[in-house]
Amino acid sequence: MSEVKAPVAEGGCQCGAIRYAFYAPLENAHACHCRMCQRAVGGAFALLAGGKKENFAWTKGEAAFYESSNVAKRAYCRACGTPLTFAYDMPEARIYVTIGSLDAPEAAPILKQYGVESRLPWVQFCESVPGEETGAASPDAQAFVATIKSNQGP
Ligand SMILES: [Zn+2]
Ligand SMILES: [Zn+2]
Repeated sequence: MSEVKAPVAEGGCQCGAIRYAFYAPLENAHACHCRMCQRAVGGAFALLAGGKKENFAWTKGEAAFYESSNVAKRAYCRACGTPLTFAYDMPEARIYVTIGSLDAPEAAPILKQYGVESRLPWVQFCESVPGEETGAASPDAQAFVATIKSNQGP
């Protein structure tokens, strides 16, 4: 018997050229207020939900990738520009998709806010969701953040 994987969540870019699927429930849906996420999505914050890389697949088209730092890549559609994914390079790291690119974004309520040190002062948003500064989770997280060399412009 061959195993047929059924997608649990699907999404894609604005023009429809790029599509993706997750074959396991989305994890760690969050907002990230960090400056890199702000630039990457051109918004006040990024909304991301993810899962294990082995549970994710591109199902249509070929995304373009921007290496936003020496340890992470962000996928986008080269035709319409929709920001699609964020992932650290380590194989065990989750791949995150932008919640707004999901077909059912309402199914990914955020549980956490990251990068709150860059949260814009006028953003009033999910006030009951706990927040955390970048690298504040643990000394390991802080050490990891210290290794990141951003490729972001000024
Ligand atoms: Zn597109
Ligand atoms: Zn961020």
